[in-house]
Amino acid sequence: MTNALTRLLTTKDTLLADGATGTNLFAMGLQSGDAPELWNADAPEKITALYQGAVDAGSDLFLTNTFGGTAARLKLHEAQNRVGELNRLGAEIGREVADKSGREVVVAGSVGPTGEIFEPVGTFSHAEAVEMFHEQADALKAGGADVLWLETISAPEEFRAAADGFALADMPWCGTMSFDTAGRTMMGVTSSDLAQLVETLPNPPIAFGANCGTGASDILRTVLGFVAQGTERPIISKGNAGIPKYVDGHIHYDGTPELMGQYAGMARDAGARIVGGCCGTMPEHLRHMRAILDQGTRGAPPTLDQITAALGPFTSASDGTGDEAVPERRMRRRRRA
Ligand SMILES: [Zn+2]
Repeated sequence: MTNALTRLLTTKDTLLADGATGTNLFAMGLQSGDAPELWNADAPEKITALYQGAVDAGSDLFLTNTFGGTAARLKLHEAQNRVGELNRLGAEIGREVADKSGREVVVAGSVGPTGEIFEPVGTFSHAEAVEMFHEQADALKAGGADVLWLETISAPEEFRAAADGFALADMPWCGTMSFDTAGRTMMGVTSSDLAQLVETLPNPPIAFGANCGTGASDILRTVLGFVAQGTERPIISKGNAGIPKYVDGHIHYDGTPELMGQYAGMARDAGARIVGGCCGTMPEHLRHMRAILDQGTRGAPPTLDQITAALGPFTSASDGTGDEAVPERRMRRRRRA
């Protein structure tokens, strides 16, 4: 099994992933509510600049601008019949940027949630989901993506369906969930649940982990939770640059480049082998992260106290894995929604 990501993981201890797609595109003029994927066709020079920003900052891999590229998501913009075109273009632009970088850079085909609610709570069937992910995966593969990159997932059903769709496309993949609800995903999945889930898949990911969620401190606690399960699979940490705050009508992330540099070093020490940023992470953050990763080698895992001292307080008392109350009420409300 030779793909660019597996090759890089055998030669480097820690890989630097990329930063935010949304935050960077908003800075280039994307309006809230627009489908960023349309820019793969309408403004390819901006997508080239997005990818180039990560590569120039030293990223070993970057995600394509195809997060909302399933038919279910493109349908919100009446573009459900353009899945093949928009995903292929997103990957093709990435392939071009990676190939002229002069080093091995992985093009990871981003796949986000469909937004559909799965059976039995909702009406979305496993078979429908698999076909939707398969369609997107085929297009990303056609455009030259090295691997697929499932991200921001909260439901185990969706994670499983994507894995099956990717198997049909015969593509290696990575997958992360967003632990944004007191240490759990919106659907109640904990770090230990995900570490166990990936080992039950017929087509397991090359690497798995967490992205987005809340702040840099919380995601490190989640990484320690994966490690506690004894997993030997490479772990991914793509945390937000600080905690989102609503300022003057837009979302602002207050994490400085220096803070994200510290986060990167601690994520590596906590056990992550692929470290990147999510919302709010710009090229200047990535440059600091690159510098810290290049300076040192993997150290002892940080304690919870060391994490909060360096990166700020956790947003919830625990990581959700203990015996304490499952957010029962929240779960019921979301099921009904
Ligand atoms: Zn994010």
